[in-house]
Amino acid sequence: MAKRQEFKTEVRQLLKLMIHSLYSNRDIFLRELVANAADAIDKARIESLTDPAQSRDWKIRIEADKNLKTLTISDNGIGMTEQEVIDNIGTIAQSGTRAFMQMLEEKGAKGEEIPELIGQFGVGFYSAFMAASEVTVITKKSGSDAPAVMWRSQGEGDYEIDDAQREEPGTTIILKLKEDAEGYLENWKVSSIIRKYSDFISYPIIMPRITVNEDKTETITDEVLNSQKAIWLRKPSEVTDDEYKSFYSHLANYGGTEFLKAIHMSAEGVNEFKALLFLPKQAPFNFLMPDIQKKGLQLYVKRVFITDECKALLPDYLRFVCGVVDSSDLPLNVSREILQENPVIAKIEKAVTSRVISELKKLLENDRENYNTFFAEFGRVLKEGLHTDFTNVEKLKDVVMYESMNSEPGKYITLGEYVDAMPEGQNEIFYITGEKRASLDSYPGLEYFKAKGWDVLFMTDPIDDWVMQSMMQYRKHNFKSIAKGDFEDKESEEAVKAAAEKYADLTSFIKETLGEQLNEVRFSARMTDSPCCLIVEGNALAPHIERLFKAMHQQVPESKRILELNPKHELVEKMNGALQAGKKEEAAFCAKVMFNQALLTEGSPLDDPAGFAKSVTDLLVKSL
Ligand code: ADP
Repeated sequence: MAKRQEFKTEVRQLLKLMIHSLYSNRDIFLRELVANAADAIDKARIESLTDPAQSRDWKIRIEADKNLKTLTISDNGIGMTEQEVIDNIGTIAQSGTRAFMQMLEEKGAKGEEIPELIGQFGVGFYSAFMAASEVTVITKKSGSDAPAVMWRSQGEGDYEIDDAQREEPGTTIILKLKEDAEGYLENWKVSSIIRKYSDFISYPIIMPRITVNEDKTETITDEVLNSQKAIWLRKPSEVTDDEYKSFYSHLANYGGTEFLKAIHMSAEGVNEFKALLFLPKQAPFNFLMPDIQKKGLQLYVKRVFITDECKALLPDYLRFVCGVVDSSDLPLNVSREILQENPVIAKIEKAVTSRVISELKKLLENDRENYNTFFAEFGRVLKEGLHTDFTNVEKLKDVVMYESMNSEPGKYITLGEYVDAMPEGQNEIFYITGEKRASLDSYPGLEYFKAKGWDVLFMTDPIDDWVMQSMMQYRKHNFKSIAKGDFEDKESEEAVKAAAEKYADLTSFIKETLGEQLNEVRFSARMTDSPCCLIVEGNALAPHIERLFKAMHQQVPESKRILELNPKHELVEKMNGALQAGKKEEAAFCAKVMFNQALLTEGSPLDDPAGFAKSVTDLLVKSL
């Protein structure tokens, strides 16, 4: 029985956009519909591996009717039940549509960028309305008794759903073309679009060609439009740039056709496989939205598609890589569940990982500019490997980069470059972790290193603090945080010891005054100009990470801090003088202001900013 149903608001907005403002690259509607058809066949074919009765001659058919002005795309894939039609194209259940609209709003995306973004958000089906004034779907679910279903919409407020006739399982999409889209009725046009975007689809895409004979009769011949050549099996020298680009955009849905590098792999011998991997140039919009993001490489077995989310083929920290692996050693009916622990897959993963890292190294050495772009996008993901990939950690250390005290803002150096630039007398690799460069730049604990001419790495990704817990050495030099643990400097040892004795009353007074907030007050030679700075214990979390965890409502042990004083600063001498003269109140006031300053210079928020502001105002009044 025919039913009319309203589209959800988001879908309606999206349709309006598709219908009224997108004309720049309309061709992609065909790519999207063909991709859906191929996905549907993939699914049916996988089911047929366990249920041979469902096996059939897989194909996609495109037909143009010049009289009715319709373009029809049919597949004999998995099909949909009525509920699936409602869920998948009526409601568009996935968060996709909303996320897509939100992105357009935020980014103020212009018409010409939108078609490339459609695929990323799982809203490809709707692109049909770019070319059609009415879309009809007739579908029958494979391997089920459910009756065929018809769905129809003009892309406005609602859609109609009804029973339908269809014998063979699969889906037919009938587009009633808009007047200005009638060009899509021409064989040459459809054929050139298919060759451009869908050539590698591994099922034949067939379009009948009608030729008029001399005696005015017509001959209809089926023409296969795509070469179905698996691009990853071809020699790299035979693949054109355009072919790479269109394959990449098909694979990755990664926002555009731009990638940094295509990597062909061909392993022979015991473990035979071929792979084509891409290093992307840009993170996709949904890179950080795990619910939409597809992870893992595509897995084929002897050119037959198995899954497009084989996570076991890549370690997590290389999740920005996309591509295809085609193995000759796995059985065709390999179940997707067992892939996770399969030894063949594990071996491929090992080879792929090692190759990707070596390609990154090459890129770093030969094309620094592009590597910088890459690293700005994916560096923090890559760095996870320093903590998780025990086998490759040494190689990963060669390709990670950081800003440093001596580098210009935004310029990254490698650990190798840091070590090469170390002057005589420096043996350790110094670093500090923090929220952002600006707050690190003002940290008083840098002063000693600045005076020595020793560089300090600035680590500003939240992950760095965690990663550094397992980074012991690089080229035999120990890593040392300049904001954690003890400070060692032979030259100033005596002076620091003497200050500790001389000012013993002062340090215990400050400790008493600031009480709970501190674990210890002591002297060190970290500073040359500032009176004091804050340090955390050797194995404690950095303060910005502690705040991050708290913001995420996670339990963290509250780490108490160490206040270090500069023995050479005149404020220390003056405070001591005040204390000795019995001016306790003044000395306590001074200790509190100092502590707040130390918090500010390490980039931490103050507990009582208003109180601090008042103290500074009082000081100003007194000073004038
Ligand atoms: P995506 O393909 O990215 O999920 P689409 O908007 O293109 O987004 O399609 C939405 C959903 O509709 C698909 O995920 C699929 O479940 C269903 N679908 C679309 N086309 C077909 C088809 N030809 N056969 C079976 N299901 C389809």
